[in-house]
Amino acid sequence: MPQRVFFVTSEVYPFSKSGGLGDVMGALPEAMQKTGLPSAVVSPFYGRISTGNFRVRLAVSGLPVGYPWAPITADVYEAEYHGVPLYFIDRGEYFDRRYYYNNPVKGDYFDNAERFIFFCRAAVALMEHLGTPPSIVHAHDWQAALLPAYIHFLRPENPFWTNTGTVFTIHNVAFQGRFSSRLFTSCGLPPEAWNVDGVEFYGDFNLLKGGIVYADAVTTVSPSYAREILTERYGCGLDGTLRQRELHLYGILNGADYSVWNPEDDPYLPCRYSVKDLSGKQKCKEHLISELGLDPALKDRPLLGFIGRMRGQKGIDLVNAVIPDLMRMDVGVVALGEGKPEYEAEISELMEQYRGRVAAVIGYTEDLAHRMQAASDIFLMPSRYEPCGLTQMYALRYGTLPVATAAGGLRDTINPWPGEDATGFIFTKSETRELLETIRQAVAFWTDNPAGRQKMVRRGMRREFTWDRACREYMDIYRTIRLRL
Ligand code: ADP
Repeated sequence: MPQRVFFVTSEVYPFSKSGGLGDVMGALPEAMQKTGLPSAVVSPFYGRISTGNFRVRLAVSGLPVGYPWAPITADVYEAEYHGVPLYFIDRGEYFDRRYYYNNPVKGDYFDNAERFIFFCRAAVALMEHLGTPPSIVHAHDWQAALLPAYIHFLRPENPFWTNTGTVFTIHNVAFQGRFSSRLFTSCGLPPEAWNVDGVEFYGDFNLLKGGIVYADAVTTVSPSYAREILTERYGCGLDGTLRQRELHLYGILNGADYSVWNPEDDPYLPCRYSVKDLSGKQKCKEHLISELGLDPALKDRPLLGFIGRMRGQKGIDLVNAVIPDLMRMDVGVVALGEGKPEYEAEISELMEQYRGRVAAVIGYTEDLAHRMQAASDIFLMPSRYEPCGLTQMYALRYGTLPVATAAGGLRDTINPWPGEDATGFIFTKSETRELLETIRQAVAFWTDNPAGRQKMVRRGMRREFTWDRACREYMDIYRTIRLRL
């Protein structure tokens, strides 16, 4: 049994979060620890980190990060969340910024490679500094993808790392951290890593590829997505590399953190409810209708919700395109998100056009996301691809019927209507016509079949996507790779 796992991640809820990765890293280490495996998290100390109610203390000052040409150091802060120690890598010039990865107007930060190379190097230096070799380093996404590569090359020459296994989890293969080849020299990997079987990708430096190639095991966040990324259509150019690692590639479905997402004790809701007594859900709906200035008559009509990044991946353009037709169905639409300015503008215009029936909130607001989940009757998730998706799991728990594409984790978490065990509505092609047709079915079901609706809602609320199960699956992988070391 491994003795300690270090999770290395660019986001960890409740300190930092821009999407599902933050949620996962806020829950998985704790669940792992409860399953009996001591865990720790390493993450950047962003300027906008919410240290709110947490005691954060300086743990290491001036940690040398190992650049041969300059004495660059990191400070490390330490905190605890639900019993799990967290180490925050601090270097103001890299992380003390308003956003994590990009400025919404100007785009990606020009020095993202430098920032996250620094982060990965600092994570290695920190673990060495702490003195006890981790049994597993579990790195997440391109921002932490150099960890498995560093450890791969350190293992034969540095006894500290000899018994450390590495796992690399891909939360979305579309985000690869692809940079100019000249940045390779600053990352500290040996020259032999620069080839097509290493981190080189069509002449560029691809950090995600490094994680895939050098980790002892690669995982992604749902069984369906693990299959999809082996294909040209979903592999984003890395399907060949992934196929080479197919024997060591696993799909482990994320869990939902029901200590954060549970309508029975959600502090953000005006009113709590449960599978036994749903009356509070209707009150949450009426509250949101008034909060967003919608037509009070909507309280008796289906309210359709969208929460997520307003990007092509999430199919927000499809939602925008069907809104005029939805208005003829006499429903309300509420949307929360930020992303591509064009999609944001489109939905804002629709809100103007259908005042009182459509409400769009452009921005990132944790508490509103909870209220929207509770208030909506139908949750729209027409993703073009979806590695796992957490929002549909939250929707199920909040008694909100998902309408989603049969992609990745959506396929793995929603049982399609009209099956006996249906928990939502699924369609196959992410096109406006199919989306509209499926919403039409869902709306008809909602309005014409109150008894069936109640049953489906309750069935969804009872679904459990626990972290316990995911932990056990990760632990099996940890064990297997440690045996191979
Ligand atoms: P992804 O990681 O692809 O963005 P997920 O469904 O896995 O999508 O997770 C998204 C997480 O981010 C959920 O917790 C969701 O509530 C949250 N979220 C997304 N957009 C917003 C927003 N604009 N405001 C608040 N929370 C958001």
